[in-house]
This record gives sequence, structure tokens and C-alpha cells, in this order.
Amino acid sequence: MTTTAGTDRQSGTPIELAERWGAHNYAPLPVVIERAEGAYVWDTDGRRYVDFLSCYSALSHGHRHPRLVAAMKRQLELVTLTSRAFHNAEMGPFLQELCAYCDMDMALPMNTGAEAVETVLKAARKWAYEVKGVPRHEAEIIVCADNFHGRTITAVSLSTEELYRDDFGPFTPGFRIVPFGDVAALEAAITPRTAAFLVEPLQAESGVRLAPEGFLREARAVTRAAGVLLALDEIQTGLGRTGRRFCCHHEGVKPDLFAIGKSLGGGVYPVSAAVGTREVLGLFTPGEHGSTFGGNPLACAVGRESLRVLEEEHLAERAARLGEWLLGRLRAIDCPEVKEVRGMGLLIGVELRPQAGGARRYCEALMAEGLLCKETHENVIRFAPPLVIGQETLEAAMERVESVLRRMKPV
Ligand SMILES: *Cc1c(COP(=O)(O)O)cnc(C)c1O
Repeated sequence: MTTTAGTDRQSGTPIELAERWGAHNYAPLPVVIERAEGAYVWDTDGRRYVDFLSCYSALSHGHRHPRLVAAMKRQLELVTLTSRAFHNAEMGPFLQELCAYCDMDMALPMNTGAEAVETVLKAARKWAYEVKGVPRHEAEIIVCADNFHGRTITAVSLSTEELYRDDFGPFTPGFRIVPFGDVAALEAAITPRTAAFLVEPLQAESGVRLAPEGFLREARAVTRAAGVLLALDEIQTGLGRTGRRFCCHHEGVKPDLFAIGKSLGGGVYPVSAAVGTREVLGLFTPGEHGSTFGGNPLACAVGRESLRVLEEEHLAERAARLGEWLLGRLRAIDCPEVKEVRGMGLLIGVELRPQAGGARRYCEALMAEGLLCKETHENVIRFAPPLVIGQETLEAAMERVESVLRRMKPV
């Protein structure tokens, strides 16, 4: 047997090696990041960029926040993995602090966002059978069109995006899809078998789409009246990103379950969780669900520090203040190709008109100007800098955004 790689196994630029050896499930911008600090990253040529994506909101604390690096190093010197076969000294305190932050009763620690969503779905189904009395294996969960809940088979089963799902069936049954922001459609979709309504308070991946004012509040009222759980996917919108601890707090809503992740790991480690009421999460018994890495001491030490930094550095308030400034600044730019600027806190989408020729070329032009952001869907540029970004950095970056938006010509 010979391998195709031959002798030049090691040769090639990092981009060439990634293209050759990695599956092509992303289309990254042609920049190779070598180091990072705060809101800045540097490429292999030493060029500096402002990070305007924040790893899809997993870097709200900025890159390598000193307190998170220190917390991680401290824990590295003690113990990193135990498995849930034993207790570890960090998990109990982490879950207590996480529940306090979320104003909830119980949490179940996982690693990635998709796993937190899966956990929420399993919890909702179990609640439907054990508490609501739905006949076993007949529970339904309502989700919204244009959602994004991750990449597992179940998460793509409830997606309406062809690219995410078309080649990956057969799909997990038991879901109904209603339009995002449509309370009447939600109400009409509820049956005696409905376990939960799973929704993102703001659809980030589908293009930073906001629900109509009052939608979440009304969805809460409808689900409560019908005996249906409200499960919120705040993986991207939670932990201060939209200017409150959770996006649902803008409407004074408390769900039964949260899925959270991304910045829970402080930008240094994957940490996620399902967090909710005792009525729901209290139903799990040993062996029904788990994760090798979920709740490991390194993750829990990092998660604790992540929450402390969010609070002590007032990052949600910062997101609200800087986000309001940023929205106003972007809206003031006179560019005929911009259709709409929308968002909450430091999660902002600039939707371009079709004649702009797609958001990708704008992201490439911004990259050349030292600004890293990414298109989401065809025509939306997402601006989501770390919440720790300095006002001056933001202002300087907006000068460059303005010059790119003014300079770019329709294709
Ligand atoms: C990122 C994200 C997920 C998936 O998280 P992973 O860590 O990539 O599995 C799920 N839901 C939302 C809203 C997200 O933004």
C-alpha cells in the first residue's frame, strides 16, 4: 500500500495543508491567525486585525483574557479530567454559580452548543412523558423556520436550510416548524402532544434577524397556558452579547430551559450546558444521559471565571452601550447597497441589497483593511466584536468600514 501523500507530507503553507488534509466543510477567508490578544489577532506575517466575529460570539471576553488564562493554568496544575464516575471539586460550585447567573434551579454540563441543544430536547421529551402524560415516543417539539441549533443529525432535522440538511437524512422525527416571530402560528401548532417550543430569541446565523417586539413575551404566555415548555437557545445571544445577560431579558421572559455555550468557555475552552427548572432537569436519572468531558474540572474552573469576568467587568452593560453607538454609526453611513442595519447589543447585521454582489466580497475588502468579519448567508455582514473591545478601537474600525462601504461598487 502506498499513500497518496508521498514525501511532501509536511510541505505547503498552512492554507495548502488545510485544503489538502482537511474536509472542506468551511470556506474561510484567506488569513492565517498565529496569535491574538483582546480584540486583536495577528497573522503569520505579523499583520494586525480587529476581530469582528469573536468566533461567532464564543470570544465575548476577547482573546486570551488574562483572568481566563490564569484560571485555566491554575486548574491545569491541579486536575483536568475525572469523568463523572467521580466528583470533582469544581463542578458543584460551577453549577451553583451558573444557576445563580441564569436564575434557574439545575444545570447539566456538556461541551458544545449542539450537545446543549440535544440535552434540552431530551429533557423536554422526558418531561412530556413523565409529567405531561404524552404517550411514549409521541412527543412533538415546535421550532422556527430559519433556525440554527447546531450540526448534529437532530439539529439539522429541524433546520429549514437546504444546505445544512439536504444530504443528511433520514431525519429525526417529532418536530413541527412555524414561522419565526408568528405567535398565532405557534398557538395553532400546539397539540396535546407538544412538549416544548425551542427558539432563538434572535436568529443570529440566519442573518441577525430580530423577532417582532413582544413575540417572546407572547410565546411565553401561550406556552405557559398550554402546558408547553419554553426552551431558549441562547448559545450565541446569551451571556451579555445582546446587552443583557440573556436576550430574553429584553422582554422580561423566563424560559423553562436554556441552552448555553460559546462564551461560557471564556474563549479558551469548550463549555456548554442545559440550564433549567427542577421540574424538568430533575427528571434525569443516572445513566440516561451523559458526556465523557462534560463537567470536567478544567471546563468548570474556566466556566466559573468566565461568569465572574462577565459580571465584574460589566460586559453586558458594555455591549448595550457600545452596541447602541455601533448601530447608530452604521446607520449613518450613506451607502446605497445597504438595505438594513439591525441588531441588539454587539450582535449586528448589515444586510446588503442583491446588487451588492454578496457579503463575501465586502468581508474580503474589510480583511484587506485589517478587519475580520464573516458573511452570514448571502447578503448579511455580521459585526460581533468581543465585548471587551475599546471604544477607540471600535471607532477606528468603523472609519474603515465606512470607507469600504462607500468605495465598493455594485457588480
Ligand atoms: C453556535 C450555535 C449552536 C451550536 O454550537 P456548537 O458549539 O457549534 O455545537 C447552536 N445554536 C446556536 C444559536 C448557535 O449560535
